[in-house]
Amino acid sequence: MTSSLSSLPAVDRLLSEPALRDQAGLHGRKLVVDAVRAELAAAREALRAGALPPPTAALVDAVVARVGAAVQPRLRRVFNLTGTVLHTNLGRATLPEEAIAAMVEAARHPCALEYDIDSGGRGDRDDLVSELLCELTGAEAATVVNNNAAAVFLLLNTLAQRKEVIVSRGELVEIGGAFRVPDIMQRAGARLVEVGCTNRTHARDFEDAIGPRTGLLMKVHTSNYAVEGFTKAVPQAELAAIAHARGLPFVEDLGSGTLAALDAWGLPHEPTPAEAIAAGADLVTFSGDKLLGGPQAGILVGRRELIARIKKNPLKRALRVGKITLAGLEAVLRLYRDPERLPERLETLRLLTRPQADILAQAERLQPALAAALAGWPLTVTIESARSQIGSGSLPVDRLPSAALVCRPQRKGGVLNRLEQALRALPVPVIGRIADNALWLDLRCLRNADEGGFAAQCAQLPPGTR
Ligand SMILES: *Cc1c(COP(=O)(O)O)cnc(C)c1O
Repeated sequence: MTSSLSSLPAVDRLLSEPALRDQAGLHGRKLVVDAVRAELAAAREALRAGALPPPTAALVDAVVARVGAAVQPRLRRVFNLTGTVLHTNLGRATLPEEAIAAMVEAARHPCALEYDIDSGGRGDRDDLVSELLCELTGAEAATVVNNNAAAVFLLLNTLAQRKEVIVSRGELVEIGGAFRVPDIMQRAGARLVEVGCTNRTHARDFEDAIGPRTGLLMKVHTSNYAVEGFTKAVPQAELAAIAHARGLPFVEDLGSGTLAALDAWGLPHEPTPAEAIAAGADLVTFSGDKLLGGPQAGILVGRRELIARIKKNPLKRALRVGKITLAGLEAVLRLYRDPERLPERLETLRLLTRPQADILAQAERLQPALAAALAGWPLTVTIESARSQIGSGSLPVDRLPSAALVCRPQRKGGVLNRLEQALRALPVPVIGRIADNALWLDLRCLRNADEGGFAAQCAQLPPGTR
């Protein structure tokens, strides 16, 4: 064993191999040295376990692969074929070109982030988007933070610290990724007062709960679930009236908050900030990267005096957004000024309104490539109609007619898991969804421009075993 251990090449000897000298030139010597050491350690381990010493060429290849894996970005692009358009784990909204260009520009050059070009004096970063937000929502003022959870937190901490916040029991939402209304409330220093029942809450429930320690009345949009049957919620305008009669603010966490009436494009209605403001809400919060279709952000719009108080909270500084977010958000908001052209220009809306016939035609173009690549697998690849979801807790019960490439096993076994794994191992990992004992690749979110790349990489799938 000692002799076979010493038959492994020395570190320097391997480093002098031309392929590894090239790697060192590309990625730096340190990374390659580390990979050589790791590979030699693995080979030594294998020798001890009785393996034969590997040829030098095999060691070199293994080092090159190791370096390749180490320099690969961790945040990798994927094909989202899950059928969920706003997939939180896959980065939610994909942005329109206008926003991407603005974000690149802001990243590349100095920009007037907090600088008033007219006066040469100091500016306020919120001013970059607050006018647009007011125009699009009818609010008096606006501010932006890191995400909607931060917006809700900052609102509660500013307006309801050491006070009571009255919320319907039917709206104590948990959003995936550990956003729970009661927990946020507690951390913000507010005391939650639950009223009503899970299915029904009445105006008098709120009226009876108001006392000397009440800070505000809150409505939370039940984004990711629906209570059906014998239900009652108090309408916004009525809640606003109850709050205002007692001199209290009424605030609403809308969650998704699109700025356009989605019904115009045959999508289900989602409440808008403009509707909430018109109904009397004093503050409204919503996400930037859900239905709005922009970068991750949390937006607060509402009464001037309340927004001013929120902006004075020192936590605003801790939760503020950067120039790249603001650049993207401004560009997205500008698109909303021309609602007619929104479905062509706003990527999220384009995906949500993509006609089923279009997706079906794409499935027909791609089916032969996938079927050929999987010819050696015990599967059939068919085209089936599917139902996409909007995702990110938006409109949980509504489904959009779509089309999918469906890989169905011909017999029992672990083939679906192996296929899922093989698809994830492709250069651009393909993420599908297993349901009804089949792997579904819903094509709604595959751009026509990416079709060629998708088909080409199918050929790299392993041959499989019948
Ligand atoms: C999504 C959502 C949140 C959290 O928003 P993030 O932008 O993910 O922080 C809060 N409240 C509601 C009702 C939501 O739907």
